[in-house]
Amino acid sequence: MLTNSLVELDRRHLVHPVSSFRGHEERGVRVLTSAKGARVTDAEGRELIDGFAGLWCVNAGYGHESVVEAAAKQMRELPYATGYFDLGAEAPIRLASELAERSPGDLNHIYFSLGGSDAVDSTIRFIRYYWHSKGQPERDQFISIHSGYHGSTTMGAGLTALPGFHDGFGVPYDWQHRISSHYIYRNPHGQDEQTIIDASVAELKAKIEAIGPERVAAFYAEPIQGSGGVLVPPKGWIKAIKAVCEAYGVLFVADEVITAFGRTGPLFASEEEGIVPDLMTTAKGLTSGYAPMGAVFMRNHVYETIAEGAGAKAVGHGFTYSAHPVSAAVGLEVLKLYEGGLLENGRKAGARLMAGLHSLADHPLVGDVRGRGMLAALELVTDKEKKTPLPASVQPATRLFDRAWEQGLVVRSFPQGIFGYAPPLCCTDADIDGIIERTRTVLDQTLEDSEIR
Ligand code: PMP
Repeated sequence: MLTNSLVELDRRHLVHPVSSFRGHEERGVRVLTSAKGARVTDAEGRELIDGFAGLWCVNAGYGHESVVEAAAKQMRELPYATGYFDLGAEAPIRLASELAERSPGDLNHIYFSLGGSDAVDSTIRFIRYYWHSKGQPERDQFISIHSGYHGSTTMGAGLTALPGFHDGFGVPYDWQHRISSHYIYRNPHGQDEQTIIDASVAELKAKIEAIGPERVAAFYAEPIQGSGGVLVPPKGWIKAIKAVCEAYGVLFVADEVITAFGRTGPLFASEEEGIVPDLMTTAKGLTSGYAPMGAVFMRNHVYETIAEGAGAKAVGHGFTYSAHPVSAAVGLEVLKLYEGGLLENGRKAGARLMAGLHSLADHPLVGDVRGRGMLAALELVTDKEKKTPLPASVQPATRLFDRAWEQGLVVRSFPQGIFGYAPPLCCTDADIDGIIERTRTVLDQTLEDSEIR
């Protein structure tokens, strides 16, 4: 009864992110009411394994009392302090310093945003300001990668290279350029990793030369492309691409909104790639979804150049809720949990998840298994040899999502027939095994679909 009225109120008043408004009206909302560990409970009282950690963000898992306490304490003592007018609060200062200590290289300066999209948008503004400060304002062209996701603010959505975020919105802008994805499984250069790296390097060089090397401001890459379908680059790809950027003096931005905070194993994926990006964006796992927050990390030279360029003038960028004390208190506590065992558990659970997914590789519908740590995907095909994608009539994004839900599993089901996994790092063996078993059931059911047989 309660659910029915909520569904109706939702239909009438709540606009959902990245949804078909009409499709959502028809399907209605599924209301979640509580959660613990890696399990969520819906309004009907059904418990499901959250194989996607909300939206790849609840890395620590649900129900950590210490996080609730940290937020409550901060709210009680000082719910808000602006960072304007040289003011501040203890929690964001401490969080910035803890993060700087752990970040790769000299990424020592941290600007807190409210989430990932505005972190990315902030980097675009800081980078423009950086090149103005350096006396090279003509460096105003930005390059990203096809299938990349960099949020949905107007400028960020233009760096995002997924058609659904462009069509009807008038982006990308003409100062936003793209190179091909490394997408190993469907790469036109074949599957040899070195060939893919060489092709990307050549394409990036050609793109920079075509734009004019003195015009290019920055290049953006996710260590693993998330929203594009969990596309893992060949080992060494990022290092090779970063070297091209260095050679041309182009700033390299690592968008670690998904990959940071243990998602792929270490605290930051850039660490395992052996690179120090000029700027790095994070969000999601920073607060594990308990409160909204993102962070832009800047290397010393980026910060110093902006500081020198502005001199006594204010750098006109900031939000009312930049460096929010409650989110920062949550971030500090979550960091303790990661280092108190969750990162380690995530690494073990990630190995089990990957082994489990590989055990599904012989299923007739599984064309590709890929991932790293607690970030993985299955790509489904109807013909393994030809890599024939699932027909659109199967409607993976809704029908396969529903099927998994009926089995008690939340996964990301991408429209192109890809299951994405990003479970909380706290997963037990039973959680991981449940994800694999339930996935197998969904695959078996899908094999029976008339569109596939
Ligand atoms: N960058 C990346 C790599 C992301 O995956 C996301 C979100 N999925 C964003 C930016 C945007 O973050 P948010 O949704 O918190 O605005």
